[in-house]
Amino acid sequence: MHTNQEPNRRLGWAVDIDDMLCPTALRVIEEVFEIFPVENITPKELRDRYDQPGNVPAWQEEGPKKLMSELLNDRQFMAMLPVNPEALDVIQRIGDQGLIHAFITSRLHDLKAVTEEWLVKHDLPQARLITRHFGERNPNWKLRHFDTETDKVIGLLDNSPDAFLDTEKLDFKKIWLNETEWWAALSPPPEIIKCRTWGEVELVLLEIQMRLP
Ligand SMILES: [Mg+2]
Repeated sequence: MHTNQEPNRRLGWAVDIDDMLCPTALRVIEEVFEIFPVENITPKELRDRYDQPGNVPAWQEEGPKKLMSELLNDRQFMAMLPVNPEALDVIQRIGDQGLIHAFITSRLHDLKAVTEEWLVKHDLPQARLITRHFGERNPNWKLRHFDTETDKVIGLLDNSPDAFLDTEKLDFKKIWLNETEWWAALSPPPEIIKCRTWGEVELVLLEIQMRLP
């Protein structure tokens, strides 16, 4: 007989979407590059070097900034983002164990429906989808969102170190996955687990899982 009566059992992980499950920054960089090309470098190299399109020194003018913002709020562009196959493998395996609590994204509520359809289309595990409301600008809003649900969330997986700013006292695991050079020199505080690949993330998740009560 099925039972949910496992005491102290936390429900699962919260997972960020952009640059975790899909290569959002790279796709935006490719589109901006079409209109505002940068000499002697490829879009992929820009992504590796600067992580996000907004960090590219040549794109600090109004034109490129406006285009980036338009793309990130364009339903069709977001709907067409490819899924990252390594992420899909790992998240499906973790999901099969019932350990995905929610997908949480800084995309605004306007993009909720298209994001939900995208998750279904790519066969990601069923879980809540939490989008950002317009007024929420704290970079660490995701972990703060779960302040009242500490019994349901094991931790957050996110590509941005800003997601973990000033959250050292929160009782969550914090896994930071980022493979670009931009962050390579940064040392996270000891309570943040830094991974460079989805393979590393899966090993860390399994290790944490084994130690849970
Ligand atoms: Mg992200």
